[in-house]
Amino acid sequence: MDSVEKISKLADLLAESKKTMVLTGAGISTESGIPDFRGPGGLWTKVDPMLVFSADTFIYRPEIFYKQGMHLLGALRGASPNAAHHVLAELERAGLVDAVITQNIDGLHQKAGSHRVYELHGHLRSASCIKCGHMISWEGLEELVLAGQIPPRHGGQCRGVYKPDCVFFGDSLPPEFYDCCREVSQSGLLVVVGSSLEVSPVNYLPELCKNLVIINMGETMADHQAVLKIEALAGEVFTALSGVLKERGHFYPKTGQLA
Ligand code: NAD
Repeated sequence: MDSVEKISKLADLLAESKKTMVLTGAGISTESGIPDFRGPGGLWTKVDPMLVFSADTFIYRPEIFYKQGMHLLGALRGASPNAAHHVLAELERAGLVDAVITQNIDGLHQKAGSHRVYELHGHLRSASCIKCGHMISWEGLEELVLAGQIPPRHGGQCRGVYKPDCVFFGDSLPPEFYDCCREVSQSGLLVVVGSSLEVSPVNYLPELCKNLVIINMGETMADHQAVLKIEALAGEVFTALSGVLKERGHFYPKTGQLA
């Protein structure tokens, strides 16, 4: 099958599926200038993530994250969504995608306009006190750090350390993970975009769906299960898909176009 036939097959699968979920990973955001985990320039190459982003290290030595890791996460907050994020939001509005499950913490699906987003690894909008749960905004966290509070602490009697509301290595996933498992097992189609599927337990989700499509540069752990594998840049695939769906105007009887 050539690339045009593959995009056409993806459009068919989306049209036939009554419920479609999309699982995204770091690869969907590389075209927004955020390096993925393992690629050149990725986080692995800058710091030792198993130390700097370790839940255990954070408990005993939170200053390691605040001195070496926080600015790396903060840099993700300035990125803008790319074509893949935008088309996914359009597909949700058009009723062709039910929800996005993301491993990313960059918030780009919401910035692009997606509404139903499971952020399985959390986000960079806030931080919470690890002692009492008191929450502050990311900007509030940055203010404390810039004022020299390392680690930043909740005031008053509490004095608990603030931790960003994203999942560190060794943290458990939010309870919404079980909602994702249920939704994927009820779906006709799961589309994986830009993930090596090496991170557990998210890589369990492809086992649960009836039909699996993978859009990823490079191999993934679930390639053998996929009814369709598209090895190309996510932005190009979704731009082409959007074109095909617009040509097949019957998906959008009211406006004749996406969105
Ligand atoms: P990963 O780095 O293990 O895999 C990314 C995959 O995407 C690779 O196979 C890569 O070849 C492919 N890829 C890269 N650019 C692509 C593109 N433009 N189009 C299609 N494919 C592309 O990522 P993962 O599976 O998400 O696991 C990494 C972990 O790191 C996740 O837990 C995630 O939370 C975290 N992470 C998040 C961000 C972010 O929020 N943007 C960035 C880096 C890491």
